[in-house]
Order: sequence, then structure tokens, then C-alpha cells
Amino acid sequence: MRVPMMAGNWKMNCDLAEAEALARGVVEGAGSVEGVAVLLAPPFTALERVASVIAGSNVKLAAQNVYWQEEGAYTGEISVKMLASCGCAYVIVGHSERRGRFGVPEPDMTEDLLRVFGDTDAAVNTKAKAALAGGLTPIICVGETLAEREADLTDAIVKDQVVAALEGMTPEQINGVVLAYEPVWAIGTGKTCEPPEANRVIGVIRAAIDSVAGAGAAHDITVLYGGSVKPDNVRALVSQPEIDGGLVGGASLKAGSFSELVTVTKEVRGS
Ligand code: PEP
Repeated sequence: MRVPMMAGNWKMNCDLAEAEALARGVVEGAGSVEGVAVLLAPPFTALERVASVIAGSNVKLAAQNVYWQEEGAYTGEISVKMLASCGCAYVIVGHSERRGRFGVPEPDMTEDLLRVFGDTDAAVNTKAKAALAGGLTPIICVGETLAEREADLTDAIVKDQVVAALEGMTPEQINGVVLAYEPVWAIGTGKTCEPPEANRVIGVIRAAIDSVAGAGAAHDITVLYGGSVKPDNVRALVSQPEIDGGLVGGASLKAGSFSELVTVTKEVRGS
């Protein structure tokens, strides 16, 4: 059975006091909802504080990124073990912003600066495997840019990203991942992919999973949609049969709107 899920990606927002207040608000608004996995992904600096706020509730902790080595001379990187020791159960891997593919234009970013956000398909695959090996569930993000969509490349890009992300994993490992379809042009832009189109592309994602892990493998895998999910569009999105929930940026920064996303998902998809 696929688990419906609503995950809030706080990105580079919230100092400790703000993180604590936001997490408290989510615990009050959605912390006792059952049948939907509710995840918060604060910045690394707030993981431990948020872990202490959500303890005893149904809210789970996720990180926004991870490095694949266990330890060593990797200045500025964070390992799976470190995340687990802060209470993380999930980690977002291959978010388009980590791949250097931004939905909102970043005019100051030269090619040189953009390399800071340099996750390749191979890096995403290595990070996802490291997460699984260390007991974290990777939430693997895939999605096309506007230029790729306009060039009719959506299906090919998404399929290639899924196949590359799952490369070398056993069917059992693949069964332990979550995928997120995040069209880059819809992230942080206020533009949402039409729900039937998001549903169709997630069908392409499921076919790509089956092509790697065997027919039927995708049936039990949670696949989220991300890209300007808000209280006024969430019902239409999670009513689509292939969309198991959302990965949410902007609307996760207000406890009230994020809790509403959880409540609607529970109403539509919860057991
Ligand atoms: C995201 O952070 O993955 C995202 C989808 O952001 P937003 O909801 O702001 O578009």
C-alpha cells in the first residue's frame, strides 16, 4: 500500500526561534493526523530543535540534502549518520535547486557560481544509495525545466532522471524510496502543473520505475507532486490517482496552510 505524504521543504528559511515556532504550529495543526506521513525538512541548523518539538507527535523529520561518504575530510558536508543522529528518517535528494536548476530566475548567478549547486544524476544516485544504506528514506526529485517542456522533452528527461537515480539498486531498495515529480518551472513560481498533466507525468515515472525494478514495482511506491502546491489547489492534485501527496516549499512556511494541506490529503487519500 502506498503511504500518502505531505512534506514541507523549508529551504534556506528559519533561524532557530522561527523553526521552533513553525514546528510547534504544525504539531498543533497536523501532529495527530494518522494515515498521512507528515514530514518537515528544516535547514540542517534547526534539525535537532525541530526534532525535540515534534517528539511524541506523528510528524517526522527530513533533511534537505546529504553527502554520501560516512565521514572524513569533506568540509561543509553532512553524512547520513549525522542526520540520523539528529532524528531524521527521510532526506530530500536531487532537488532541482541542488541540481542548479531554478524555477525562479537567479540573474546574479554566473555559470561559475551555479556550480555550487552541482548535483548530477550520478551524485543523486550515490546520495540515494547512501541514504538507504544508512536507514534513511530518500525522497528523490525529478522534473523538467520550462525550456525542456517547450521542446517536448518532459517525458524523456523525467524518465532518464528516474532511471539514473535508481541505477544499481536492488528491487528491495527501490521499494524503499519515495519519488517526487517537481517540474522546475512550477517551483516557487506560483504556476502549478495542471493536475491531469502531473498525473500523466507521474505515470511516466512509474513506468520508468517498472523498467528498472520489474513490472508492478512502482505500484507500492509513494510518488509526490511538487510545484506551488497550496491550500486552493491541493484537493485537485491529491484527487489524481497517481499523486500520493506533495513536496511543498512556500506553503509549508505557514503552519496553518501546511496543516490544511495535510488535512485535505487525509480527507481525500487517508485510510
Ligand atoms: C519545493 O521546494 O520543492 C517546492 C515545490 O517549492 P514551492 O512549493 O514553493 O513551489
